[in-house]
Amino acid sequence: MTDTRHTSRCIVHFDLDSFFVSVERLKNPALVGKPVIIGSKEGRGVVSSCSYEARQYGVHSAMPGVQAYRLCPQGIFVRGSMSDYGHYSRMVRDIIAAEAPVFEQASIDEFYLDLSGMERFFHPVEWTQRLRQRIIRETGLPISCGMASSKTVAKVATGQAKPNGEKFIPMGEEKSFLAPLPIDKLPFLGGKTGEQLRKMGYHYLRDIQQAAPEHLQQLLGKHGQSVWERANGICHSQVAAYDERKSISKEHTFEEDHTDLRLIDTMLKGMAEKLAFKLRRAKLMTGCVAVKIRYPGFDTHTKQVTIPYTTDDFRLMTVATELFRQLYNGKPVRLIGLRFSNLMEGNLQTNLFEDNIKNSKLYAALDRIKEKHGQAAVNRASGWMRQTPESSTPNFFQVSDEDSSIE
Ligand SMILES: [Mg+2]
Repeated sequence: MTDTRHTSRCIVHFDLDSFFVSVERLKNPALVGKPVIIGSKEGRGVVSSCSYEARQYGVHSAMPGVQAYRLCPQGIFVRGSMSDYGHYSRMVRDIIAAEAPVFEQASIDEFYLDLSGMERFFHPVEWTQRLRQRIIRETGLPISCGMASSKTVAKVATGQAKPNGEKFIPMGEEKSFLAPLPIDKLPFLGGKTGEQLRKMGYHYLRDIQQAAPEHLQQLLGKHGQSVWERANGICHSQVAAYDERKSISKEHTFEEDHTDLRLIDTMLKGMAEKLAFKLRRAKLMTGCVAVKIRYPGFDTHTKQVTIPYTTDDFRLMTVATELFRQLYNGKPVRLIGLRFSNLMEGNLQTNLFEDNIKNSKLYAALDRIKEKHGQAAVNRASGWMRQTPESSTPNFFQVSDEDSSIE
């Protein structure tokens, strides 16, 4: 007899329902039952989330705020608070971490759990239902979940369970579950690919299931095989365990011990800028910044702080500078280091705050230049940054613009 326990997997996907809106409703219960839109109705900002009531008017995330206002003038527009969302995201993550054998945080409001082989110890469906109830009870946030033999099918199941529901797809029923769904229910399909497929007559996942995989490959290139497989419920992607230690860092050792705080400040800002660039290129955000100072005789001190998830150069520079100020004891410095940890996929900040749009567009443009010509091509350390609205943030070093450019 073959033991199939290790070949059949049990994957759970959790997704908080219109997460930002739910957090705003916890803060202000008057928003419950109303069409809530996170974003600005003016300017060039986009909607980063909206309630189910707002969706009924055709509003959806990533839509320009102006357009959302036109569709739903009675909508309540809320600016949004990344630090509150980060706080609740961590709360949910901590509950899952305390219960689940293996889990992965896929975004600020999404988690995958691998319960494979656990059926010997507990009933996976009942266990998942209990965990979901615990999250709802302890955070006050609505969350939906799906369970299936793969990440893709579990995620689609969650989508079908929303809002505030559960859906469990038994082993062997993946294909029939997917068959009647429109093709854009397949995660990560992409608008363009969806358009291409519809033009060729593929409207439901059933249509893709019935096609020959070679057909999809001809149409979509190497991407085609994976689309065909996932539409058929085949997905071998692993749940990557969340790793608190995942981080990126930079250090600089001075040739001689330094007391020149201007130089150190410039170095630190340069490091923040380079690391932030790395983050954006990897489509990651950081939720924790640490500064290290080493004095002569290997006397090493570090200090870290948890921050709202960001990739924003200026914010990260400000945090690094502030940490250094708190940590520095006035002695000559041998080495300084900067580390970003608690990394998470996503780039939420870009659509959250309207006045960041300008910055993120600028970042994107500068990043493109860096990619083409190398890091040294663009050095904007402090100059224009001081003209951003945040320039009023107190700066310990009080360096003037002319003196603080990176060499
Ligand atoms: Mg969600």
